[in-house]
Amino acid sequence: MRALFDGSDVNADPVTLGLYLHVPFCRTRCRYCDFYRVGENRERMDRFLAALETEIDEWGRRYGDRRVESVFFGGGTPSLLEPREVGAILRRLAGAFDLAADAEVTAEANPSDLTLARLVGLREAGVGRLSIGVQSFVDRELRLLGRRHDAAGAAEGVERARQAGFERLSLDLMIGIPAQTDGSFAHSVERAIALAPEHLSLYLLEVHEGSELDFLRRERPRLFAGEEAQRRRYLAMRRRLQTAGYGHYEISNFARPGAECRHNLRYWRCQDWLGLGPAAHSFVDGRRFRHRPDLEGWIDEPLAIEELPADPAAERVFLGLRLAEGIAPELLEEAGLGAAEAARRIDRLAPFLEWRSGRLALTPEGYLLSNSVLAELLR
Ligand code: SF4
Repeated sequence: MRALFDGSDVNADPVTLGLYLHVPFCRTRCRYCDFYRVGENRERMDRFLAALETEIDEWGRRYGDRRVESVFFGGGTPSLLEPREVGAILRRLAGAFDLAADAEVTAEANPSDLTLARLVGLREAGVGRLSIGVQSFVDRELRLLGRRHDAAGAAEGVERARQAGFERLSLDLMIGIPAQTDGSFAHSVERAIALAPEHLSLYLLEVHEGSELDFLRRERPRLFAGEEAQRRRYLAMRRRLQTAGYGHYEISNFARPGAECRHNLRYWRCQDWLGLGPAAHSFVDGRRFRHRPDLEGWIDEPLAIEELPADPAAERVFLGLRLAEGIAPELLEEAGLGAAEAARRIDRLAPFLEWRSGRLALTPEGYLLSNSVLAELLR
């Protein structure tokens, strides 16, 4: 069996597939959100589930012979689905695809939804991994983000997930939340470590133009951390998590050995995945395509897709360099970068890129500037 973290760069095993299911419903609207989502509504959820069955069956006719190694319920808020609905979706997938017995099945969850009954139901339905959107363990920061849970509720949700038998938990935290300080961020990291999740994701808050947070930033700019403060928090958190036994395996992701998210590794390694549901993206056989972010349009035509530009060779470099394992030098050549020019550019980007065991990888400082570093490398 291939090791999970073996440094493979190319889609060496094209018969496998990951499945992403976008569940676009949310009970409330977070102030920073840029995902495609709509308000929770039972009647619409029922029509969503019916359309999802159609989409599963149709894709199954095309790709049903591929072994599905991961299923990821994202959103939106998949934890608003009833466990019996999640179970029905997984049974449908197993009927339409070659769903591996040990497939990694993840559901994103809002801590407020995590009652013990729901958690036990999700476990029984076949969900093995939860990705819990904690964001912070400071109530004021959670209120400023517009989250519907508080810090105590988040911790209780994680503890109940353990009680329900979940052995693979991931917590999301955020850097750059309004009113966050170095101290309050360190507090959130410590609370997260104390809950002993197998995996942690750490995102920089993005303030989108025209959003409520953008308005708040104009009104009260001092609530927002500058770049230097974000850099300091990121590097301090990286050191702290490594001391606590978490490997930094991707720019924003940390895991205990063996607990890396297999589904997300597919994205960064450019292995095939199929996205179902409105706004979901896919990458299959070197093609990128997506469903439009329009629930009603997707319900009418769950198979309608829009082709997106794809440059698999450049993407293997761009995405592969997000991983600590880095990339093999041959990928640069496949992306059209000759050896001499590659050496010149890498030399110029020296504080941000380095060779490790014959592979090119970002340095910790490079992680912070990854988009500009990678754009400069591949320009
Ligand atoms: S729960 Fe997630 S998808 Fe829904 S509004 Fe908040 S951030 Fe957006």
